[in-house]
Amino acid sequence: MRYQLDAEGRKRVTLITGDGIGPEVVAATRRIIDAAGVRIAWEEHQAGAEVFRSGLPSGVPAETIASIMATRVALKGPLETPVGFGEKSANVTLRKLFETYANVRPVREMPNVKTRYSGAGIDLVIVRENVEDLYAGIEHMQTPGVAQCLKIMSRKGCEKIVRLAFELARAEGRKKVHCATKANIMKFTEGLLKKTFEEIAPEYPELESHHIIIDNCAHQLVRAPQQFDVIVTSNMNGDIISDLASGLIGGLGFAPGANLGNEVSIFEAVHGSAPKYAGKNVINPTAVLQSGIMMLRHLDEFVAAQTIEHALLLTLEQGAYTRDVRPEGSVSTSDFTDRIIANLGKHSELGRVREHRPLKMPELRAAPDFVHVAQRRTIGADIFLESGLSPDELGRNLDRLSETSPLRLKMISNRGTKVYSDNGAMTDCVDQWRCRFVLRDVEADLSDETLAAHLVRVGSAHRWMHIEKLQEFDGIAAYSLAQGED
Ligand code: NAP
Repeated sequence: MRYQLDAEGRKRVTLITGDGIGPEVVAATRRIIDAAGVRIAWEEHQAGAEVFRSGLPSGVPAETIASIMATRVALKGPLETPVGFGEKSANVTLRKLFETYANVRPVREMPNVKTRYSGAGIDLVIVRENVEDLYAGIEHMQTPGVAQCLKIMSRKGCEKIVRLAFELARAEGRKKVHCATKANIMKFTEGLLKKTFEEIAPEYPELESHHIIIDNCAHQLVRAPQQFDVIVTSNMNGDIISDLASGLIGGLGFAPGANLGNEVSIFEAVHGSAPKYAGKNVINPTAVLQSGIMMLRHLDEFVAAQTIEHALLLTLEQGAYTRDVRPEGSVSTSDFTDRIIANLGKHSELGRVREHRPLKMPELRAAPDFVHVAQRRTIGADIFLESGLSPDELGRNLDRLSETSPLRLKMISNRGTKVYSDNGAMTDCVDQWRCRFVLRDVEADLSDETLAAHLVRVGSAHRWMHIEKLQEFDGIAAYSLAQGED
């Protein structure tokens, strides 16, 4: 069950009002949902700035976590990470804790909100992977001057997000899904998303499916955003293009979001706590309200969601707007909220309200091992080391060290470009080197003992900090070549 009922049959929702403008926008949304007659048992809990200041480094108290575990659904205002308290964002903690792997961000043109795209009919939704990729947050300083962040993407993660994007397209009666990746450069990570998308697309024959390179996607979003319907993409790409897309339709005041998972879903606007407007009754509650509308659909409250969406669109059509749209003639947050409530039950003529069907969440095996291969072999290893030598000096030194080892030096690269043996590349080198060693016996499988002994040899002369095996899965190389490596 995606949600839980209380003893009186009301749908339970954990409510986190948040920081800054959070309490105002969340209160406005709650007032409208209650006025529409939806029977929700709101369970108010804390997270964010005050919690950090009270000394809890995560910013999320155990009671809040327990409440979300029980209700399975949260509506949340923005949370601030106060400078000097806690290292991690409470927002990210909440998303990761409950494996809300999809961040769904609809972007649509709103009535009477003038932008340079007005009339183009923008109505798209970005489905961003929410827990993997560079946002796994696994970073190391490999030398005092060279940093590394691991980009982790899994077949399981890709499959979940791709299926969800197609299911969302179905649930919202959309026509096409674009998968936006940088697979042309990152063939294993971004390529996994592209490959998974292409494998799953035929299961949705009624939907058009296209792959697009992410940089062109950004370009096309600015040039002709109306061509898109659903865009599925990896975490960082999605983070960037979804903010770009919200800029096309009037800004953060109109950008809702949902963090969806198979167990828990958390609904929140894209915007932050905008502290300078806190308590001033001037900010736009639309983004949180639209997130609330998404939540109602998740709670199977389709009629109420549609009623509220019509009332919101009609209120804008009637010419009411908050300060962010235009300061002159704007109304306060509470006035805007009252007008939406007064419009409940009336229909918007201009704004299109989509018919929604329940969203079918992807069902995947819970087991972590998701891909099986019949054969695997290790043919060598990349040893990453720190050195102030020139590529030639380092190369000759490693050649000498390897003379009697089963492993030979194949090449050295610096920031991904081959620099040894010399191929004329004009690479500006730093002190972190990837030294690729392969077995002299091309039929053999590298044992841990051989690798460890080789590492000791290399370590006798150099400071190494990282090692990566060169594996083959079913005879296919599971590692990329360096730029310039043959
Ligand atoms: P922000 O709070 O989103 O505000 C940036 C600007 O966007 C505001 O100054 C305002 O623009 C406009 N804006 C945002 N929400 C609006 C609304 N509802 N109505 C009208 N205008 C709105 O971003 P920030 O200032 O970078 O971040 C402030 C804090 O929020 C930080 O602590 C950050 O970590 C946190 N944050 C939290 C979340 C989250 O909880 N999911 C997300 C982002 C940021 P004008 O100044 O042009 O009027």
